[in-house]
Amino acid sequence: MAKLKEKIKKLPLSPGVYIMKSKKGEILYVGKASSLRKRVTSYFGPGRSRKTEVLVDKIADIDFIECESEAQALILEASLIKEKMPKYNIALRDDKSYPYIEITKEKFPRLKVSRPKGKTKSMLFGPYPKAGLLKPALKMIRRIFPYCSCKRFPKNACLFYHLNLCPGPCIGAISEAQYLENIKAISKILRGERKELIEDLSIIQEKPMIKAVEQLENFLEVKFKGFVATELGPYNSIVPLIVASQMENRIAINGDCCGRSKPKISISTTAVKKIPITPYSVVSQYGDKLIIKAAQNDSRGEVIARTLSRITDGSISVARCPMTIRRAKEAIIPQTFSKAIELGREVREANEKNQDPIKALEGVLTQAKLIFKGKIIDFIRVEEGGFTSGEIVIESLKEQKNKLRILYQNEYLLSWLDNQQFISCPDSIIIVDSSTGLGLTPWEEDFQKERMVNIYALEAPDIWKTKEGLQVFGPHLFEKEWKEYKPLSSFIDFSA
Ligand code: SF4
Repeated sequence: MAKLKEKIKKLPLSPGVYIMKSKKGEILYVGKASSLRKRVTSYFGPGRSRKTEVLVDKIADIDFIECESEAQALILEASLIKEKMPKYNIALRDDKSYPYIEITKEKFPRLKVSRPKGKTKSMLFGPYPKAGLLKPALKMIRRIFPYCSCKRFPKNACLFYHLNLCPGPCIGAISEAQYLENIKAISKILRGERKELIEDLSIIQEKPMIKAVEQLENFLEVKFKGFVATELGPYNSIVPLIVASQMENRIAINGDCCGRSKPKISISTTAVKKIPITPYSVVSQYGDKLIIKAAQNDSRGEVIARTLSRITDGSISVARCPMTIRRAKEAIIPQTFSKAIELGREVREANEKNQDPIKALEGVLTQAKLIFKGKIIDFIRVEEGGFTSGEIVIESLKEQKNKLRILYQNEYLLSWLDNQQFISCPDSIIIVDSSTGLGLTPWEEDFQKERMVNIYALEAPDIWKTKEGLQVFGPHLFEKEWKEYKPLSSFIDFSA
């Protein structure tokens, strides 16, 4: 016993799994702990139950396996119990009421915690002693090997994709074969193939967004004061907030480098102000780190970043376009972030309170003009080169049945009213549902025929209407025939 106590004193304080053995080397009990030394010591202290005393009397030796986290220890514990069936792990030997991790049998399998009843085609791992730790275990696994969580794919990739927690099969960002490789790796982890697990973990880069910023800071030997969004888009807008909140004394700037959403990163007010995209820093979740010192132009810089993203499961973090505060003031469109929050909140609350959401929307977007109202009569969508492009046709309810045709490439860019060139980029075209005021994105589900919509237009900030601005974001970039940009004010009477 003295030898055993000495061994226990030397156990690490880290999480892991302990294996209690009898004199004959038979495995008596397998347990997991957040601190191996503390947990194992507690078996030999006062206040033990009768059952524990019986077990302790038989312990002659204790082995242990250190783990990265308690969640990882939980997975290893369950797989060892399943394999060794230790006498004192009675609870887990009665499988039925215990939780399992289930990998569904689908084209793009999902992972979930379940208590299966009867036969299933899914792969099951467990049972686990309690469901509580399975969530952190799945979270840990997902950070390493992203997987999807939806049975039916929605029209757009969700936040999981942007947080690198799902490789985005819904938008074709990963092939089926690549996705199944991730699932294979996950099942290895769940089977307790620890050696491989540790090897996999060692190539993982935690918080790649932060690392990308730090790497650029080191390269430039500066410390950034703040971060700004490249566009006003669902995920891109919140990246600066995420980064600033995780780094000390940094700010997220209330503004962006477009004043609207945009189809390409290189379409940016920084480009108008000749602030180059390079040098930029790239960090992947697999630990790849690169600095692109220079690119011939911003478009080429973007192509390089997209290529790196494609070969890394779409999961790279890029810190780009370093600029001084003076230059940032010239390029950034201010206040867009708070405006977007206000708009979202007002429309949501109006819907929740059964008030008029259109009135709420118009109350916030006071500069926006209602340019058309009608029903969807046609919608075409093509996926090409990482872009979603197509056309939407809306017919007015008036007797003349005017038609508004809108061309989009990820975002709404050009429009024709009864075949005449009408509002175009860089002005914004906004399509919302007439009854809910909710914005529509170019996916089939949003553009069902007969749906009633309101179309608004918002004139672009002045920077876009300059000669340089129109070179970067003029209508000719999307339709060669479209020679001249005409601002919204040339179609709509603003004094009315
Ligand atoms: S990114 Fe797509 S597939 Fe993945 S969880 Fe989100 S919606 Fe589902």
